[in-house]
Amino acid sequence: MKENELFHAFLVKYAEIGIKGKNRYIFENALCSQIKRALNPLDGVYHVEREQGRIFVEAEGDYDYLETVEALGTVFGVAGICPVMVFEEHDWDTLTEKTAQYVDEVYPDKHFTFKVMAKRADKHYPMTSPEICAKMGEYLLDCFPDMKVDVHHPQAVIHVELRSKCYVYSKIIPGPGGMPVGTAGRGMLLLSGGIDSPVAGYMISKRGVFIDAVYFHAPPYTSERAKEKVVDLARLISRYTGPIRLHVVNFTDIQLAIYEKCPHDQLTIIMRRYMMRIAEELAVKNDCLGLITGESIGQVASQTMQSMLATNAVCHMPVYRPLVGMDKQEIVEISQKIGTYETSILPYEDCCTIFVAKHPVTKPSLELIENSEKNLVVVIEELYRKAMDSIEVIEVK
Ligand code: ATP
Ligand code: MG
Repeated sequence: MKENELFHAFLVKYAEIGIKGKNRYIFENALCSQIKRALNPLDGVYHVEREQGRIFVEAEGDYDYLETVEALGTVFGVAGICPVMVFEEHDWDTLTEKTAQYVDEVYPDKHFTFKVMAKRADKHYPMTSPEICAKMGEYLLDCFPDMKVDVHHPQAVIHVELRSKCYVYSKIIPGPGGMPVGTAGRGMLLLSGGIDSPVAGYMISKRGVFIDAVYFHAPPYTSERAKEKVVDLARLISRYTGPIRLHVVNFTDIQLAIYEKCPHDQLTIIMRRYMMRIAEELAVKNDCLGLITGESIGQVASQTMQSMLATNAVCHMPVYRPLVGMDKQEIVEISQKIGTYETSILPYEDCCTIFVAKHPVTKPSLELIENSEKNLVVVIEELYRKAMDSIEVIEVK
């Protein structure tokens, strides 16, 4: 089957739950603009149109079918993608001939049950919808005697729609679901080079959230290549999330100060508290409504509930942890599905792993941690300001 010759349009289906009234308008607008964004890098010319509670993407002339389906599959809010055959002629002979051609190409094996669903926006058409269904069903049975009608539980529903043009479709390719990016607020993702945080960004974005990201870099302890890896990860998730502003914070001096002045078994927790403080200040500056991390309860010493309590204590805005209840294997599977895994496992050093203690505390007391941080009082203000003032912003898309 030559898909790009048979199909000229895509009907985009979305779940309508909870999007009535004004919300529906916001939802559909965001969905259309995200669809346009996803198709923009492709070579084809596309028209995206809203029509009676559905979205049609029509390709003008030559286009790449697989690339188009793949791009539509990166748009949150898309529940399903139906490739559609489109033609101008409304007369019965063309309609039956084209529908039979559609069935013949899409279903090489004709041993299946079906029914026809017809819709007619043009009420002057000389047949009613039930008549079209019945007659088209008969016609298809004549052409393909192995097919059987089942009106209750058909294996295929052949949709025939008469509007300004004619549309025939039946297959649904599942989309990613979720809400279109832009329907929620903006969040600040703490993005490291690991497996978890890119997945966390993907998952929050799936709820309609725009994403900014922050990466804590510790040169020369972490290399330029480690930073490039994070930029690459941001680029990979930006296929789903849209453009990401990546804020790169030089964290070296803060880490060295912590290393010098605080008990080594508390290094990770204190370091993470400074990451959160900086991330929150950046979040406020960039109109973000929450922080996002890739933490999951119990995964490592710094992610026990006690550690998270100590880390979280410096935050004022909500910290979203979409992976909190997941096993590593589940997270790995998502990262493979979204295409970040191979990059995440490249062996470049991370600032957390360089300044890590042999035996970190797993149940830190908040009081103890706060006490240790007092050792930093003389130096930290200046180092913190210096870090904030030297942030590099990379626009990733
Ligand atoms: P990941 O796979 O996301 O790196 P991890 O299992 O390695 O997670 P940690 O290193 O403890 O876990 O980090 C927990 C979370 O803190 C990360 O998911 C990420 O959100 C954030 N984080 C850790 N290191 C950095 C960093 N260098 N820059 C930005 N965020 C970071
Ligand atoms: Mg990590």
